[in-house]
This record gives sequence, C-alpha cells and structure tokens, in this order.
Amino acid sequence: MLDVKVIRQNFPIYEHNKDLVYLDTGASSLKPKAVIDQVDHYYSNLGVNVHRGVYGLSYEATDLYEEARTTVAKFINANFDEVVFTRGTTASLNMVAQSYLSVLKEGDEIITSELEHHSSMLPWLNVSKKTNAKLNYVKLNDEGRITVEAFKDVLTTNTKVVALTYVSNVMGYITPIEEIIKLAHEVGAVVIVDAAQAAPHMPINVKSLDCDYLAFSGHKILGPTGIGVLYGKKHLLDQMEPSEYGGDMVDFVVKDNAKWKDTPYKFEAGTPIISGAIGLSSAIKYLMSIGFEAIEAHTKELHRYTLEKLKDIKGIEVYNSKSDTGIITFNIIGVHPHDAASIFDKNKVCIRAGHHCAQLITKWLGQIATLRATLYIYNNYEDCDRFIDSVKETIDFFNQF
Ligand code: PMP
Repeated sequence: MLDVKVIRQNFPIYEHNKDLVYLDTGASSLKPKAVIDQVDHYYSNLGVNVHRGVYGLSYEATDLYEEARTTVAKFINANFDEVVFTRGTTASLNMVAQSYLSVLKEGDEIITSELEHHSSMLPWLNVSKKTNAKLNYVKLNDEGRITVEAFKDVLTTNTKVVALTYVSNVMGYITPIEEIIKLAHEVGAVVIVDAAQAAPHMPINVKSLDCDYLAFSGHKILGPTGIGVLYGKKHLLDQMEPSEYGGDMVDFVVKDNAKWKDTPYKFEAGTPIISGAIGLSSAIKYLMSIGFEAIEAHTKELHRYTLEKLKDIKGIEVYNSKSDTGIITFNIIGVHPHDAASIFDKNKVCIRAGHHCAQLITKWLGQIATLRATLYIYNNYEDCDRFIDSVKETIDFFNQF
C-alpha cells in the first residue's frame, strides 16, 4: 500500500480541509503541490508568451512549454510531433470528429458504444447526422462490457471510424482495445481512443496499442484544468485540417492563401495553454515517481476492502462489482442519488451523483442516475470506512419515512 500520510503532505487541499474524504477523482483529481508550484513558477517568474518573444524570458517559457510536450510524449510513448495540446479530452475528441465531416459519406459506418462518455459519442452522433454515415453501437455484454466478440458483430467493410473508451467512467471496465484496434485496422478503419479514465490508472503506450488517435485530460491525472492532449499518428495529423485558425499556426500568409505550420503547431492556434502544459508536465512526473504498479495495487486493495464491506449492507445495489479500476457505481434503493449525496456531503465525503455525462450506460443500467465513488492514491482505509458509514447513515435516514 502507498504511504497515504506522506502522499497527503504533497496535496495542500488536505491541509485546508482536515476531514476531507475525496472520492470523486473520476470527475477530477486533486492537485499536488509540485503542480501548483510549477504553475506558480510560470506566472511568478515568466508569465510571458511562447514561440514569439525575442528575449530570454520568452525563450525560457518556450523551453518549458516544449519540454512539457516531450514529457507527455514519453508518458504515452508517442513522438514529440504527435502530441497536440488542447483544452481537454472533449476538445481533442471533437477536433478529430470535426475533421471527419469532410471525409465520411453515406454508406460509411462509425462504431461507438453505450459505455461512452458523451464526449466520445456525441461528436460522432453529430458527424453521423451531418454526413449520413451510419452510427453503430457495440452490444454490451450482461456485465455492461465491450467485448471483442460483440465488436466483431458490428464491424463491417464499411466501417471507417471506431470511437471507444479505454476505461469507462461509470463502470471502470477496461476495454480490450488492443484487439479491437487490430480488427478495425483489418478493414481500414481508424480508431479514436478516449483515455480520460485510463490515463490516471494505467500506463498508456500508443505505439503498442497502434491506436490512430488518443485523448486525455490533465485535470484527471493530478494536473491543472484546461489542458489536455490529443495524440495522433503523424501521417494522420499531417492530413488533418486545423479546426481553428489564427496566430502561431501559420508559416506564410498572403491575401488569398496561407501555409500552415507542421504538426503539432498547426493545431495550436493562438496563445496556447502555457501554464496548463507546464503544470501537466509536473503532474506526469509526480505520477511517474509513484508508478502505475503501486497506483494499481493501492486502488485495487481499497476497492476490494470497500466492496467487501458494501456486501454486508442491505438496501444497496452495486452495478460494477467487477470494475477493473477503483470506480464503484451504486445506488441506495429507493433513495434518489442527489438526496443520498447530500448526506455524504454533510459528512465531508465527496462522491458523484448523476448520470456522469454518460446517459446511455445509465439508461442501460435501468437508472436515471447513480452514485459513484472513485478510489485513488490519496485515499486510505479510513476514507473507505467513512464512505461506508455514510452509506449506512443514508439508508437509516431515509428508512425512517
Ligand atoms: N471521457 C471520459 C471517459 C471521461 O470520464 C471524461 C471526464 N468525465 C471525459 C471524456 C471528458 O473529459 P473533459 O471533461 O476533461 O474534457
């Protein structure tokens, strides 16, 4: 197990919120001091633009910004010029989908699933409506998982795009994405991987996955909000049109034409998210100093411990007891999740209530909303116990009526 006492010393939020039980990392992670300090360093010591200034401070800021790209590239085993900084997973996935508006046509097919976050399926619903390409959904198995077999059932020679999540933000399942990518490539389709929930929990290797595009957000891996990553294979990014036009993305401009910079810069129009990228770099370094093996062992143990205790409680329904990551999605029977969450909130236990921006899987579960607790590196057994106490208190409270 990780030494949570030591880890919490790195997270100032615990200093300011003594009783905090934070179980909403699925929505956004807490931020370590190293990240906050690095963002502060940029604003306090540099605070200038990148790629433009012909003076020392700007060179230094540019170095930090581009070093961040190197850190991200190493983190996912990509090449430097395959890493585009964006506003987050949502922006990355939309960018890719937009670029297929001029590529797809009637007769083409797109595959997605009911397990997707809205960011992964809505951009393709839009593309499907506008191009008349057919949107197909992988049939989930009884547990709610995407399986290779079910994927084969919807894959056809007309499939041009596959947009799937690597880890579900509701069920915590890991998609067998590597095999799916192989099959998709056999029919010439590209695969876009939503790695927003994978990046905090497991190593990502875009080369061994052989995915065509992959997206994740900084704020879910201990980094700042407002920064994310789009990975794309170089030849695909080269073919892709920018979705925004402006400063810094262009080499030459004449009145009736312009020549874009090479990737990744042609996708980063305007002043980029400098502090975000620099902060993300620190977050990745912090995460790597802990290591995914230790992260996985820690969250799995807390997950096992919590599920064991939940098993003994009558009046709850856990929807993903076989989750591959530390995500527990459940309901307290007869209690609306928002009512339940308010009792958790009173006890300073932060969990998520709602449809988690994934209405399709919530409907698939036969629910209008669920409660979700995510376990991560700064959680300990005591957090799990206080979570369990809140579950019991909620049941007792609502059973009085
Ligand atoms: N995909 C998944 C699986 C997610 O969990 C999230 C965030 N909840 C997103 C996409 C969107 O990420 P962001 O809001 O950072 O753009």
